[in-house]
Amino acid sequence: MEYRDLKKQYQVLKADIDAGITDCCTKAQFIGGAPVKELEQQLAEYCGVKHCISCANGTDALQLPLMVWGIGAGDVVFVPDFTYFSSGEVVGAVGATPVFVDVDPATYNMDPVKLGEAIEKVLSDGKYTPKAVIAVDLFGLPADFDAIRPICKKYGLYLLEDGAQGFGGELHGAKACSFGDISTTSFFPAKPVGCYGDGGAIFTNNDEWADLLRSYAVHGKGADKYDNIRIGMNSRLDTVQAAVLKVKVKAFSDYELADINKVAKLYTELFEGTDLVLPFIPDDYLSSWAQYTVRLPKSVDRADLQAKLKEKGIPSMIYYKKPMHKQGAFAGTYSENADCPVTDEICDTVLSLPLDPYKTEADVKAVVEAIKAYL
Ligand SMILES: *Cc1c(COP(=O)(O)O)cnc(C)c1O
Repeated sequence: MEYRDLKKQYQVLKADIDAGITDCCTKAQFIGGAPVKELEQQLAEYCGVKHCISCANGTDALQLPLMVWGIGAGDVVFVPDFTYFSSGEVVGAVGATPVFVDVDPATYNMDPVKLGEAIEKVLSDGKYTPKAVIAVDLFGLPADFDAIRPICKKYGLYLLEDGAQGFGGELHGAKACSFGDISTTSFFPAKPVGCYGDGGAIFTNNDEWADLLRSYAVHGKGADKYDNIRIGMNSRLDTVQAAVLKVKVKAFSDYELADINKVAKLYTELFEGTDLVLPFIPDDYLSSWAQYTVRLPKSVDRADLQAKLKEKGIPSMIYYKKPMHKQGAFAGTYSENADCPVTDEICDTVLSLPLDPYKTEADVKAVVEAIKAYL
């Protein structure tokens, strides 16, 4: 069994994907061009946001808004403690200081109460200036924007939605990547919508920021890329990737998102009554299921379970083993001084299971039976 079956997906979408790639090669169009423009329009429409700016990957997508907002040395950006490294890495990359905030034990997303406490603590320490919040839509579930947005407003902080795993998710019927002042996503192959390499996109309704993002993403360009008015990056989405994504986004919106929700629902039904802590989707939220992550009882030897599953041909992953504040990159900095007991505990007990829109009922049953037998 594949953890996320991109081979099967390719077989289903092969004719259209091959045609898209061949078209780029035939026209020798590898940077920019119609596929990139069309994809940006398709993504902006899907998410219900005015501007979509594609870029090279989901990490650059997070860093570019921080550059646009002029965030740097002396500034603090609040980041959940339970996330992929990029969410905090970009803060350090622009010279600012990430402050890690504990997560909600049911949704795994940033705990708004803890966010308020972390902001107050930074203010009372007086060493750094709070500037922004990076709210991550972890495992496909949008963050608690109903609570986080008012906190950002109260303290005058920018809200950056890290939708690298959230693309396709919904809150009150609105799509992920529309909840931040600026929002971002990643098209890394294993994400809800992935390309055939690295890719990313940035979303905003703000015209001025959209212009600045396009400039920073292409060497700080002015009138053109040979007129350079600020220090930027080289962060473009390849034309070939845009051609692949046009097909993938359509399949995702036509049926993949619905199908992956069916697969996740079946997992949850079949696991009912076990000692596992199952994913929790609050009312009026839709997850795009970047991961189906369960929590094991503390008594279970996770590595042994993974080994036994592997013997049966069932892959599993641990997202994430280490809290952000314990990453070596932050050792000895203000960022390591986080009090995040929830993250500490879930890092030791989470297990993510094989999931994609193409899994069959038999696949799900095989995984569930193997885990039940072990427990
Ligand atoms: C994958 C991921 C990123 C980074 O995306 P890349 O395209 O790999 O650079 C950022 N944040 C989160 C939460 C992610 O899962």
